[in-house]
Amino acid sequence: MPTWLVTGGAGFIGGNFVREAVAHGVRVVNLDALTYAGNLESLRDLDGNPDHVFIHGDIGDRALVSRLLAEHRPDAVLNFAAESHVDRSIDGPAAFIQTNVVGTLALLESVRDYWKSLQGAAREGFRFLHVSTDEVYGTLGETGKFTETTPYAPNSPYSASKAASDHLVRAFHHTYGLPTLTTNCSNNYGPYHFPEKLIPLVIAKALAGEPLPVYGDGRQVRDWLYVSDHCEAIRTVLAGGRVGETYNIGGNAEKQNIEVVQAICALLDERRPREDGKPRESQITFVADRPGHDRRYAIDASKLRDELGWEPKYTFERGLAETVDWYLANQDWVRHVLDGSYRLERIGVSA
Ligand code: NAD
Repeated sequence: MPTWLVTGGAGFIGGNFVREAVAHGVRVVNLDALTYAGNLESLRDLDGNPDHVFIHGDIGDRALVSRLLAEHRPDAVLNFAAESHVDRSIDGPAAFIQTNVVGTLALLESVRDYWKSLQGAAREGFRFLHVSTDEVYGTLGETGKFTETTPYAPNSPYSASKAASDHLVRAFHHTYGLPTLTTNCSNNYGPYHFPEKLIPLVIAKALAGEPLPVYGDGRQVRDWLYVSDHCEAIRTVLAGGRVGETYNIGGNAEKQNIEVVQAICALLDERRPREDGKPRESQITFVADRPGHDRRYAIDASKLRDELGWEPKYTFERGLAETVDWYLANQDWVRHVLDGSYRLERIGVSA
């Protein structure tokens, strides 16, 4: 049974990834600092499962990470841990540099030393996979797509910090020979997504009858990928990706933000109509644009398709409908995030 050390596994994508990895027969050691974005309620179904070991700690804590590596002898380390919200990076970039850059560097140093200590097949087969974003490439005009050779041009403190971490991963491969893989993925959505991000935020506000804030003219374009497709793509790259390479991951689902908000409104109107019968689109409110807001992202994921045969399984329409249904069925999870009681979970206090 393989063992993977997953960092940031109490977050949105990391949590989905951990659940799926355990279901695929992997023993997961999950290291997470439980920042505001970490939520152990998202992992409740793994309580008592011997194949999931949760460790509360920081990727920047070299002593802790080295001890975990020595104790659990993982076959791979997957780095999801990050500060991930662009708006928060505009208000306070320092935490993004601390975790995404300084933390990733510390993690890389610990992992390099562990990898060097391995022998034979264990050393040969070991991988460090770094999970990153398409935002490192900056913004596109009306046409074109990001490929793995698009020059980096990050525009927000978040994307600048992720770009720096990608460069460190690259450097650790070229300088020390660490067998690394990097994935750059488009916007994810799906179950357990923290309701500060567009899709879960709009679902929560739409149900509460509140205004639905849309930045600028709402015509910014993002590519959307259902989270389980992302998790499968990461497992695919881990299993067959060429060492030292980067792989773009995308959903072939370019949408304007306003289209996404309208689609959510339509799904909710169908499933849970407002008491006054008004369409939820009437709640849409345009607000001042985010500073430095990138206009369009689009991903060319043909390298991953051609080399490793991965393609997304979900259309945006199916993924969004399943996401809306998940939020409707899991209102307690949302309520505990919104009222802050999910944070009590970490110290074992029941809400
Ligand atoms: P998230 O904010 O939901 O989760 C991040 C997790 O990392 C949280 O559980 C948090 O507690 C943990 N964490 C933060 N700092 C830490 C530290 N110093 N040590 C240990 N744990 C720490 O983020 P997400 O949306 O799940 O994103 C996961 C990764 O995927 C990130 O690296 C992000 O850049 C990348 N990514 C996200 C998207 C997206 O659409 N969400 C798209 C592409 C790439």
